[in-house]
Amino acid sequence: MFDRLCLIGVGLIGSSIAHRARRDGLAKEIVATARSQATRDTVARLKIADKVYATAAEAVAGADLVILCTPPGAFGAVAKEIAPHLAPGAILTDVGSVKQAVVDDVGPHVPPGVHFVPGHPVAGTENSGPESGFAELFEGRWSILTPPQATDPAATDKLAAFWKALGSKVEVMDARHHDLVLAITSHVPHLIAYNIVGTAADLEEVTQSEVIKFSAGGFRDFTRIAASDPTMWRDIFLGNKEAVLEMLGRFTEDLTALQRAIRWGDGDTLFNLFTRTRAIRREVIDAGQETPAADFGRPHGKG
Ligand code: NAP
Repeated sequence: MFDRLCLIGVGLIGSSIAHRARRDGLAKEIVATARSQATRDTVARLKIADKVYATAAEAVAGADLVILCTPPGAFGAVAKEIAPHLAPGAILTDVGSVKQAVVDDVGPHVPPGVHFVPGHPVAGTENSGPESGFAELFEGRWSILTPPQATDPAATDKLAAFWKALGSKVEVMDARHHDLVLAITSHVPHLIAYNIVGTAADLEEVTQSEVIKFSAGGFRDFTRIAASDPTMWRDIFLGNKEAVLEMLGRFTEDLTALQRAIRWGDGDTLFNLFTRTRAIRREVIDAGQETPAADFGRPHGKG
């Protein structure tokens, strides 16, 4: 589909793209770069790229598809570095979990003749680094593309075809809409997990061993989400501030209503909500976004 696919940053997402693109022959050549020598050495050892470069500027030269796969906070600096070296006609995209911030940070650096199509594969695990990737990560998951209005629709279509070849289903939407939807489906749930695990860790009277010992009561499932990469999630909350604060406001109101129901012994309110939420779980399973087994959609044995 592409002559030269360039991955900037090769962690969970970058290496998963590389595995799949290599397995299915989606690019004649795959090149990559990463910040540290250690990651570049690992990429070379795993043989998921044909060439590994020390700098992003060298890596993007001649590439017809460039994918930014670093944490979102680094996109602006990377875009500035690579801009003079991008090939005319290339598609520049990213995999960042926030989208309006990418439009704002990367957009101004995109040279004329380069097609800018921000993207976000809604797939992941709590693991990071080049060794955590696998070819099936995007299978059956949604990838969202948020092209700015001026983007050539043919470039969006070509990138959509690439994500479909990676196993994804594709939806195109406005960047701000993406950020609002993801605030409630991903960002706020992560904040809740980080918070509850933090609260438990702070409880002096509940010893660490008891927290671990009885964790299967529900806490364990939050710890998986709260093990997600700190840099990436810091960048997500700073990059999607408005939508996250909006959703947190609603969440807090609803939580207060539940608190009140418990205080006043209002069992009907609790029961009705828990019945509605159980139905949503069923819808998630029916939509193919989860299996009934509590493995969070991860392939067994992948962390
Ligand atoms: P990751 O495993 O931590 O890998 C990040 C990669 O970016 C590494 O190669 C790292 O290089 C490089 N990097 C880090 N900081 C950098 C900087 N300041 N400048 C240049 N390179 C830098 O991350 P990931 O989970 O693959 O996430 C990457 C992107 O995918 C993020 O934008 C995230 O929002 C998005 N995303 C993640 C998930 C998920 O569940 N993880 C899901 C969907 C989208 P070194 O190894 O050399 O430090």
